Amino acid sequence: MTKPVFRFAPSPNGRLHLGHAYSALLNDALARRFGGRFLLRIEDIDITRCRPEYESAILEDLAWLGLDWEKPVRRQSEHFSDYRSAFERLKGRGLVYPCFCSRKHIAERIEAIEAESGEGWPRDPDGAPLYPGTCKNLSPDEAARRIGSGEAHAWRLDSDAARSRLPGPHGFTRFTPDGATNTVEADPWRWGDAVIVRKDVPTSYHLAVVVDDALQGVTHVVRGQDLEAATDLHVLLQKLLGLGAPLYHHHGLILDSGGDKLAKSRKSEALFELRARGGTAAEIRQRLGFAF
Ligand code: GLU
Repeated sequence: MTKPVFRFAPSPNGRLHLGHAYSALLNDALARRFGGRFLLRIEDIDITRCRPEYESAILEDLAWLGLDWEKPVRRQSEHFSDYRSAFERLKGRGLVYPCFCSRKHIAERIEAIEAESGEGWPRDPDGAPLYPGTCKNLSPDEAARRIGSGEAHAWRLDSDAARSRLPGPHGFTRFTPDGATNTVEADPWRWGDAVIVRKDVPTSYHLAVVVDDALQGVTHVVRGQDLEAATDLHVLLQKLLGLGAPLYHHHGLILDSGGDKLAKSRKSEALFELRARGGTAAEIRQRLGFAF
């Protein structure tokens, strides 16, 4: 029987904090418990925000915590061609369309729609307004002409086309640390026409994560609850691309003393700061409930 495969997949756009430590330690602990492998994947598609020095710092912090992972580490920025070929498959099946809109244009469009209708426009689970479809009905000639003239564009999922092929119901298998599983209903349509390939990078988080989980044979995805809603879209992409689906466990988030989610953007206390103040890896493990 092949061994279960777990992965911790941080983005090197800042230093790791306690929430990352929890996720990494939980992946490692569950990999051990299930007799599985533990991989580290560097999710650095965002070339404007990710930096090599953050990647080295991540490796250093994880090693300090006492973690060890299989080498070589997969670095997403070295695999854009894999995401490209997955995208081409979607494109070949008429499941994506180019979108030339700027964020500003979308915001203005939504504002106008809301003012006209007097009703709120639907938001996706991250709170962003669903794409209003401005570029959805461009003629193929017009779209090709604009692409040919070098106009910046993203590629969006045509959720109507996807829905007519795969109406659902959709779902994913959730597992708990004691090994129990159950099926959870998924609603990919609440993401609307999600961006599959960004304007600035030749993929998106959603596309890269499903491609990599499949290519690396990941069987168990363990990540924070903040990514649970994204799983609804991931299971749709897996089906559209004919990829297998891992099992999922979305763990609770480590909150700061004010009850807020830890975040790099809020300058939450980083592991290296705890370390600099004399904290030990054993204390952190204990504080996070991994005193074993
Ligand atoms: N790279 C993502 C993050 O740092 C995690 C992605 C995942 O686990 O699927 O939030």
